[in-house]
Amino acid sequence: MQTLDVDVAIVGGGVMGLSAAYHLLTLGLVDSVAICEQDPIHLRSSTGLSAGGVRDLFSTAVNIALGQYSIRFFEEFSARTATASEPGPEISFRRQGYLFLMNQENERGFLRRADFQELHGVALERLDRAELGHRYPQLRTEDLTGAIFGRSDGFLDAYQVMRGLRQKAAELGAVFIDEEVVGVAVEAGRAVGVQTATTTVRASRGVVNAAGAWGGEVARLAGVFVPVVPVVRQVYVCRPPEDVFGNYPFVGAPSGLYFHPEPGGRLLVGKAMSEDLVGLSWDWDRRRFEDMLWPELAERVPLMERTRLESGWAGLVENTPDLSGIVGEHPDLRAFYLLTGFSGVGLMLAPGAGLALAEIIGQGRARTIDVADLRAERFAEGGATWEEKMM
Ligand SMILES: Cc1cc2nc3c(=O)[nH]c(=O)nc-3n(C[C@H](O)[C@H](O)[C@H](O)COP(=O)(O)OP(=O)(O)OC[C@H]3O[C@@H](n4cnc5c(N)ncnc54)[C@H](O)[C@@H]3O)c2cc1C
Repeated sequence: MQTLDVDVAIVGGGVMGLSAAYHLLTLGLVDSVAICEQDPIHLRSSTGLSAGGVRDLFSTAVNIALGQYSIRFFEEFSARTATASEPGPEISFRRQGYLFLMNQENERGFLRRADFQELHGVALERLDRAELGHRYPQLRTEDLTGAIFGRSDGFLDAYQVMRGLRQKAAELGAVFIDEEVVGVAVEAGRAVGVQTATTTVRASRGVVNAAGAWGGEVARLAGVFVPVVPVVRQVYVCRPPEDVFGNYPFVGAPSGLYFHPEPGGRLLVGKAMSEDLVGLSWDWDRRRFEDMLWPELAERVPLMERTRLESGWAGLVENTPDLSGIVGEHPDLRAFYLLTGFSGVGLMLAPGAGLALAEIIGQGRARTIDVADLRAERFAEGGATWEEKMM
């Protein structure tokens, strides 16, 4: 058994843990960081299994601010993650927008949110049905009233995001331990380190729980409760009969169906459903596409009647009771910091959330983005920071 002394130990090397490490080290807020990751090739971690969508169209001020920081961060990604020996990776950030389709039922909510979003500096357009049909002639629009188009938004390659953050954090001295954390050490009401099979990590400034969908499990290792539940989501990659979707935005329909273009003329299609399993499972079900998603997709995009399903996968989202993330110190355990629970939008909020947590650890509070609404205490206080479902 070896012992390692660092300032901060991070549990989880997905986009959240890497963003925290990146910001802690690039801003010089701490001198040393260890990142423990049980699945270093990211077969099951959520970041690599995500749909890659990035937006600042949110219903809460805190998520809008995190999204705006993240979009700027992703724009500058290559330069920000370049090291002395290597350029930062190309994350293929295609800023083709987000398009939320409106019908009579959801229109009021979208228009109310659009006013709020604009007040917070979000660049958006309100499209009426005629404009929608003109811009996107492949969509069936008879049942729609229009759409909200987020101009800053897009989608990117999440693996390359992890690669770049890891590369930069490593250059700045981050130590990577590719093992499961099996214990969190607590002394006098304070988290002081973590335990893996081979290493005792002593962390003088604290421990970060960035374990995504496993966030509740890792909290249990520290003897505290965090309300994060893993929920299985499935996505499908199809080849349309004609290569006409290349410039499409990320489209979200009122039913929850979404799709966006993938390289090679393909479309990535998904939908969050109330039947989605709760728990740790990565089972992918082709029949679900054929029975449930395909008919709906063909209804919305008639050309997709003739699509061919090529592949797909299942991954976990990390849901909290109010579908908002948790950023900050655990109320019952000092120096045990939470950066989890982003409920299916963690990739797009990770740069801002990692910055905020790094400032909390290094400077005592988040100075750049006010993340007080995401504090863990809100659950015990009976409060909530509801992020409204948009699809
Ligand atoms: C199908 C699907 C589509 C999605 N689409 C989008 C999207 O378009 N846009 C978006 O923003 N988000 C999307 N998400 C959500 C997004 O993937 C997550 O919110 C985000 O990746 C969370 O990042 P994370 O670092 O917290 O989690 P992860 O990437 O899961 O990282 C946590 C890591 O912790 C590790 N870990 C857990 N326990 C331990 C332990 N005891 N010891 C060591 N390591 C441990 C895990 O192995 C894991 O690698 C999607 C998710 C899914 C499943």
